[in-house]
Amino acid sequence: CGIIGVVGKADVVPSLIEGLKRLEYRGYDSAGIATLVNGGIERRRSEGKIARLEERVAGNGIHGDIGIGHTRWATHGVPNERNAHPHATDKVALVHNGIIENYRTLAAELAALGHVFASETDSEVAAHLITRYLNEGLRPQEAVATALKRMDGAYALAILFKGEHDLIIGARKGSPLAVGWGEGEMFLGSDALALSPFVRRISYLEEGDWVALSRAGAVFHDAEDRVVDRPAKPTALSG
Ligand code: GLU
Repeated sequence: CGIIGVVGKADVVPSLIEGLKRLEYRGYDSAGIATLVNGGIERRRSEGKIARLEERVAGNGIHGDIGIGHTRWATHGVPNERNAHPHATDKVALVHNGIIENYRTLAAELAALGHVFASETDSEVAAHLITRYLNEGLRPQEAVATALKRMDGAYALAILFKGEHDLIIGARKGSPLAVGWGEGEMFLGSDALALSPFVRRISYLEEGDWVALSRAGAVFHDAEDRVVDRPAKPTALSG
């Protein structure tokens, strides 16, 4: 139900937790974060309150200078740790808001290719679909652009890639997503409230857009993969 992502300068875990707390008002039943540690994907997830996730994070150290976080409002699969986001494969970690309507068709196709699912969610299918295209040799941006064209329904996504310490890709179709411009660090969030402690300028993705974030900035693409300008606006909210 809420998304946060940070390509950061230092440990991003406190910012991920802070962002998730600011998304609590939207309602949720579970939460989780993923970071990269030496290129590898690390995850912590928990059913229930953000405070429980925080305890898990504190008791079982997780750090990283890039990461994504999620508050889940379950639509497909009961609220438990296994169904909590981020979902991960050996190549990506992904958070999703919304519903992927054709996930059964996609899951059957991916299962035939040998993909094994660890959750009951529609969202995990998106992680495997992107992984499928990475396995075929596409670069992260091409793999995401290809996968997006195959997913029906509503989504906001944030995706982290194994070994890619300077890249988060976000996408928006039917669920809001915004980019926060920091100084040498960049943020992704469901709304301005989640981003307001960290940035003064925000760009909103338009319907069908996807965006590649790095520490240097953001490159926006429309649904036809054309590079487009999504001007930054000053945020009226303050942290
Ligand atoms: N459909 C997804 C799930 O049930 C995402 C729900 C959400 O928007 O939080 O896990």
